[in-house]
Amino acid sequence: MNYLSTRGNAPTLRFSDILLGGLASDGGLYVPEAYPRFTTAELAAMRGMNYRELAFEVLSRLIDDIAHDDLRALIGKTYTAEIYRYVTDQENPADITPLKTLEPGLHILALSNGPTLAFKDMAMQLLGNLFEYALANSPSAKATGGKLNILGATSGDTGSAAEYAMRGKHGVRVFMLSPEHGMTRFQQAQMYALQDANIHNLVIRGVFDQCQDIVKAVSNDLDFKTGHRIGAVNSINWARVAAQSVYYFKAYFAATHSNDQEVSFSVPSGNFGNVCAGHIARQMGLPIKKLIVATNENDVLDEFFRTGVYRPRPQTKHTSSPSMDISKASNFERFVFDLSGRDAAKIRQLWAAVESGGSFDLKADGLFDRVANFGMASGSSSHANRMDTIRTVYEVYGTMIDPHTADGLKVGLEHREPGVPLVCMETAQPAKFEDAIREALGVDPVRPAELADLEAQPQKKHVMDVDVEAVKRYIAEHAR
Ligand SMILES: *Cc1c(COP(=O)(O)O)cnc(C)c1O
Repeated sequence: MNYLSTRGNAPTLRFSDILLGGLASDGGLYVPEAYPRFTTAELAAMRGMNYRELAFEVLSRLIDDIAHDDLRALIGKTYTAEIYRYVTDQENPADITPLKTLEPGLHILALSNGPTLAFKDMAMQLLGNLFEYALANSPSAKATGGKLNILGATSGDTGSAAEYAMRGKHGVRVFMLSPEHGMTRFQQAQMYALQDANIHNLVIRGVFDQCQDIVKAVSNDLDFKTGHRIGAVNSINWARVAAQSVYYFKAYFAATHSNDQEVSFSVPSGNFGNVCAGHIARQMGLPIKKLIVATNENDVLDEFFRTGVYRPRPQTKHTSSPSMDISKASNFERFVFDLSGRDAAKIRQLWAAVESGGSFDLKADGLFDRVANFGMASGSSSHANRMDTIRTVYEVYGTMIDPHTADGLKVGLEHREPGVPLVCMETAQPAKFEDAIREALGVDPVRPAELADLEAQPQKKHVMDVDVEAVKRYIAEHAR
């Protein structure tokens, strides 16, 4: 299985080559040369498999340069009931991603039982194990000393998921920039309470955008970047998207009794990583009816799926679903590549407009008509919608959901069709967003007992000014 760039001007690579990298050298994103497709018989055999078996079945089609026994072992130590242990009520921990049924045909897929209580753990935990394995085994990584320094900026969920996935991993260090203000106390404590020697929390006296600018400036210094073996774990990482496609299969089999049925999925979306994984599952043959892209007030994706115009915004709005506060969707290019019939020249043209601050309109050139073939739908929610949904779900079904999941449920219900099971992706547990829950319900969300005194634990962090050179110095001193 080879991977090629959506922009057509970068070398074709294997999975292990793109695992540690970010963008392709031509600025595009790597995608499989062709999607492997499960036959009807193969899909029938997958029904009844547990999470680990399904993960191997799906990922071994996309990863053919890691020995099967090794891949099985990496999957085996990632998807355990011990790691995904924060299961709530009625759930079966051995399931990894239990399906909660609100009423017949309406479900929530519990994806937030991992260490940081958000769905990003689903892929990031595997990434940690894949990185450690590749650093020790791949010839190109060994040639450069088998070390990787991950540099990133976080507004909350990505940073903690990355740190919990990489803590204690051989050859990997994490330098994570977070803004002094803007994250919840719980999110801060999750990261800063980690005492592992390979985890460095750099708290920047500024806002998230400034953290991101510093990361860009450091990464643009190519000598520094190569010299210190700087890598990233952002949401365009192909391995993350691939790992996320597994739970679409798991949910599909849990929500149906026969492979003749179709299922629709509603996905709280920001960078289009999660819903892109659903698109891939469908390309691999999973009978998905609709993929419903749910956005908040930052509705660049909803606008596209309604109008055909993709118009990244100069600024993000701060909302009560902060993990979806994005102005452009970094994984969207993978979908448009498929929509265009894999036309790399077209992608170069479209993203040249985007990268110079503009937009594009696929209705004008007819491509937008094809969206229907891909079964996409969309919608958005306001703060009031999310609060109402949290209240209704609590009152009617006795289930507490977080503001991101509420966004997905609100938009999903607008597209629900009789006879088609609807699965809404739970992207975080309510405990992560206490203020929003208190506002909606007047009560505190339940928190796993183990995390009861999280904010009181000693914190390890390094507070710094908005200063690129100071960040570089810190990395240089600690990345030996
Ligand atoms: C990251 C995140 C999202 C958005 O996921 P994308 O893959 O970027 O679309 C939604 N909800 C929560 C809680 C998240 O952490």
